[in-house]
Amino acid sequence: MDKWCTIKAAKYIWQAIAIPKMTQEYFMLQALKEAKKAFDAGEVPVGAIITMNEKIISRGYNQVERLKDPTAHAEIIALTAAFNFLGSKYLPEATIYITLEPCLMCAGALYWSKINKVVYGAADIKNGYKKYIAPAPELESIGIAPLPFHPKTTVIANVLSEECGGLITAFFKAKR
Ligand SMILES: [Zn+2]
Repeated sequence: MDKWCTIKAAKYIWQAIAIPKMTQEYFMLQALKEAKKAFDAGEVPVGAIITMNEKIISRGYNQVERLKDPTAHAEIIALTAAFNFLGSKYLPEATIYITLEPCLMCAGALYWSKINKVVYGAADIKNGYKKYIAPAPELESIGIAPLPFHPKTTVIANVLSEECGGLITAFFKAKR
């Protein structure tokens, strides 16, 4: 990994540090720290954390290369850890913070988890779930989660999107 890119990625993390605690941005920063672990391991830098009552109950970062498993996305790892931690197959009181728009597989896993809220950072035009789902503004306007999420799930996009997207851009720049 080129040194300049590592420094630049560290700068993204650093820039976000002056954030008040317990806000969406604060928790997204924690997800970004997970993404930075993936970055340092040479994985596409995506991170996720799951919170309940403003406490982090699980963390995950992309480990597709290390595990040689294309399903080892940050969300899946964080979800499995949360189910284990709670001893429950549903997370109706939890929020997941993900640095990148979830893919269709992860959106499906989040559907099955019945998670309360999904908050993500940067959009993923190439592999994000939105690529496969027709927009349904009429659903969103009355507070129903966009497909393919559970009807009770709230979805919030673009939290620290510049920092989250910048880390990914830095990663692919270094790969080239
Ligand atoms: Zn995914």
